[in-house]
Amino acid sequence: MTPAPYVGRFAPSPTGPLHVGSLVAAVASWADARAAGGRWLVRIEDLDRPRCSQAAADTILRQLDAYGLAWDGDVLVQSRRDDAYAAALDALKAQGAAYPCACTRSRLAHAPRNPEGEILYPGICRNGLAPGAVARAWRVRASNVSIHFEDRIHGRLEQALAHAVGDFIVRRADGLFAYQLAVVVDDAFQGVTHVVRGADLLWNTPRQIHLQRLLGLPTPAYAHVPLVTNATGQKLSKQTLAPALPEAGRGAVLAEALAALGHPPPDDLVGAGPGELLAWASAHWHVENVPRHPTIAKPLA
Ligand code: GLU
Repeated sequence: MTPAPYVGRFAPSPTGPLHVGSLVAAVASWADARAAGGRWLVRIEDLDRPRCSQAAADTILRQLDAYGLAWDGDVLVQSRRDDAYAAALDALKAQGAAYPCACTRSRLAHAPRNPEGEILYPGICRNGLAPGAVARAWRVRASNVSIHFEDRIHGRLEQALAHAVGDFIVRRADGLFAYQLAVVVDDAFQGVTHVVRGADLLWNTPRQIHLQRLLGLPTPAYAHVPLVTNATGQKLSKQTLAPALPEAGRGAVLAEALAALGHPPPDDLVGAGPGELLAWASAHWHVENVPRHPTIAKPLA
């Protein structure tokens, strides 16, 4: 059997411009796709409307272009995909896998949390809403589900969903669809075979595999690359005031990103521009060389 042709993707949330941390994830997924002779797609994950903007999405696409990260086909935009997410939620409801939840934030204030600070839903609405209660969000049942998966960098992993995350939200109280549902629907819609993304999402993968199984969708291969942290060990993000990727000296920044991914370019490429560096990266990319450590302790930039 011939393997499915490789389709990879980069899926930024347009909450601000790309920074070095997002560049590392973009370069890793680009290089992994190009090294396999595959396609590389870009998807704008602007589900969280209040936090996202069109201006940030435009900036991200301009930055990718300036850094030589050329994508294939049209950019998929999640804010235009509500119908697809609603259809997936209907499919979950139809099999009794999703249920309405009336719990407010204050009702759950004392619920246990996992180490990431996410609420472990205590199951209050699992067997039906209390009389008079109004449905706010939709959750997916996760009790008794243990997911085993193989990450191409981190190896074989297992998560018992009930203990790690509990019944999780697929549609929020404000009516927005949750990342976990949208990412699964869109990865399948775009025919994504390989997900390469930051290690902050490693433990989201079992929830996504659970949804893929419920929805009868294929599970892509996953690889989670190290996260770049700032001097105090926090993930680079808008919240931690990470600076936008510089406009000048792009080659040097790309070389640093590649080095952080275990692919330091050779000395004769010092001073090279994005085109040359990326050509080298796609020719020399081996996912086994990407460090397994989930964060890059030495901050870049
Ligand atoms: N939109 C997510 C982020 O910017 C990435 C989602 C993914 O790659 O699955 O963190």
